[in-house]
Formats: sequence, C-alpha cells, structure tokens
Amino acid sequence: MILVDTHCHLDLEAFDADRPAALDRARSAGVRAFVVIGFAPERWRTALELAESTPGIFATVGLHPTEAARYDDELECTLLQAAQHPRVRAIGEIGLDYYRDAAPRSLQREVFWRQIRLAKELDLPFVVHQRDAAEDVLAVLREAGPPHQGVMHCFTGDLDYARACLELGMHLGVGGIITYPKANSLREALRWAPLDRLVLETDSPYLPPVPYRRQRNEPAYLPAIAAKLAEVRGVPLHEIARITTENAVRLFGLSPDRIGAGSVEARPRSLELRGL
Ligand SMILES: [Zn+2]
Repeated sequence: MILVDTHCHLDLEAFDADRPAALDRARSAGVRAFVVIGFAPERWRTALELAESTPGIFATVGLHPTEAARYDDELECTLLQAAQHPRVRAIGEIGLDYYRDAAPRSLQREVFWRQIRLAKELDLPFVVHQRDAAEDVLAVLREAGPPHQGVMHCFTGDLDYARACLELGMHLGVGGIITYPKANSLREALRWAPLDRLVLETDSPYLPPVPYRRQRNEPAYLPAIAAKLAEVRGVPLHEIARITTENAVRLFGLSPDRIGAGSVEARPRSLELRGL
C-alpha cells in the first residue's frame, strides 16, 4: 500500500524533536510522499529546506488568509520566485478564514483571488483553506476562472457544498475529521463524491484521527483516515490507497518513481532563493 499525505506541516516545531523518526514511522505505514505546506514566507523557507533534503517531501508556497495583511507587490514577487523551485508542487494554503478574522474580509478575498491567478499563470494547483467562509470561497473560485486545479484542504462540507466545489474542478482533501463521531454529513458527502476527486491528508500536527485524538497528529496516522474512507465507501483499503495516490500524483505532478522510498533525489535549486 502506497499513500500520499497531501497536506502536512512537518516543518513546524512540533516535529523538531523527532522528525526523522516520524518520517520513518510514516514510511513504515506506507506513506511515501508528503506535501509540506508553506503558508507564510518563514514557512516557505522551512518547507523548501525539508523538501530539498528529504526524499519524498514536496512543498507548497502561499500566503494563509490569517496573514493576508502582509500581501503586497514585494511579497508577491518573492512568492512568485519561490514558486519556481522544482520541488514546489502547489500554491497554498490560501483561502478565507472568517473564524479567526485576522485580516479584513475584503482583503482576504483579494489576496485569495490574486494567488489563484498566480497559480494559474504558473500552471500549478492550489490548496484552499476555508473556515466559516464557505459561500465566499465559492464566490471567489467562481470569479477566478474555473475549472480549477486544486484541493479543498480538510474538506468539512456537506453534500451540496461538495457538489459545488467539484463543479468548479476542485478535489476534496479527506482528513481526520472523517473519523469523528459527529461528522455524519461529511461522511455522506464523501460517500457520494467521485473517487477520482479525493486525496488524503493528515494536516499534521493538527486534527488527529480516531483513535489518536489526544495526541500530536503525524503522517503515520494516514492509514486510519484511508481505512475510514474505505469503510464509508464500502471499497477495499488497497483500492482507496491506489486511487487516492493516483489522484495525488496527477494533481501535484509527482511522478511515481519520485515517490518510491529512497529513490528520490533532491533536485538542485533552479534559482536563488535570496530574500526568503
Ligand atoms: Zn494546513
């Protein structure tokens, strides 16, 4: 079984004490590729450092909506430059967060829109963070020129919301919440959604699946999420693994030989990352 963790934060301090061991545990559990999310300039650097030094790790770069006030032409220019790095596989996470409301909502929408356009120019997919802003996320996606290549990270919506996202071309990121007892409407949506639009993610160190809920989440727990999706769909686990891995490989432009354990060579930098 080969799995891809399409959304994790392995560069965060939460993994400083045991990062290599956490990666070993994940690989033993079948997780062979990891997309580490660079959500702010400081994290672009740490995500890229990990991706350069570790086989199977890829990175994204983008500005999280809680950081939207930092977006200006200079930051956009640096983002554009960072995104040229060969191990950057997506722009993200970007989106709207009306729960934390750390930046004015109109500004969040503009920054989200600009980064979608940037992803399109670069021919990269993008990773969407959405909290308490479901309708406005759809509105920006509709304005920004669908169909899109992207993923609704940690999808938590119901069937109607899933349908609306899929119509815009998006994939749905299936995370630990699928295992939570109260998530019935989410499970209903994920039972219905086309399998070729689902990818797996842990969002480590956040959102651990059952039965790890009081612990730090880590990519080694991805099989618990895959198993729950298999149960919800009534499909064998190895089928869920095969299809979701194919989806992740296609969406993030990974090549299968680059996700085999130990076979990934860190490619040289294609440009200077001065200013990061
Ligand atoms: Zn995240």
